[in-house]
Amino acid sequence: MKGEGFEKTLKKNDVLQENCKICMHRNPVIYDELAADLLDEQKDIDRYEDVRKIEDMATENKWKYFEDLLSPCIRCYACRNACPLCYCPTCFVDESKPQWVGKSTDPVDIRTFHFLRAYHCAGRCTDCGACERACPMGIKVRLFTKKLEMDCLELYGWEAGLSLDERPPLDTYRPNDPEDFIK
Ligand code: SF4
Ligand code: SF4
Ligand code: SF4
Repeated sequence: MKGEGFEKTLKKNDVLQENCKICMHRNPVIYDELAADLLDEQKDIDRYEDVRKIEDMATENKWKYFEDLLSPCIRCYACRNACPLCYCPTCFVDESKPQWVGKSTDPVDIRTFHFLRAYHCAGRCTDCGACERACPMGIKVRLFTKKLEMDCLELYGWEAGLSLDERPPLDTYRPNDPEDFIK
């Protein structure tokens, strides 16, 4: 960075968004014209270090962690409004007949909103980071969606946003699925 009377060199990772630091798809999947050369993708990155740390916590610590994480939430819905997947004409939180979740900033209502929204994004979230960037309270909301993103990769080998021809795992089923729920 150069300006009048100063020059400073920054490390890229000190200024990038959290999700950009761990991105492994910097090249576009589809394009008409590519304005520059393809880049080498990042390798040897653990995209889910933060999720695993939470998974390793004892249950009571996990509860406290999420309580603290969501305690600043003012339920402004900026995270939802910024998300490219949250395009439903009427979001479940705005429904009144039936009312799926209370409208208050009571901790239970706040948790219900976040957990349900995360499940709605399962298999579709590309970790674009728009939700986290929009939050005026600096809440790391991606931690919810990242857990489900990790599960989709580990359980189904699925990453959202890479194929136009395949359906997300929670959007499809096989009639010969070995589990009982399908019968
Ligand atoms: S990171 Fe996922 S949940 Fe957040 S805005 Fe992007 S697609 Fe939506
Ligand atoms: S949280 Fe769920 S219901 Fe609301 S806009 Fe997003 S995907 Fe739709
Ligand atoms: S943007 Fe932040 S404060 Fe607003 S609802 Fe989402 S998590 Fe809560």
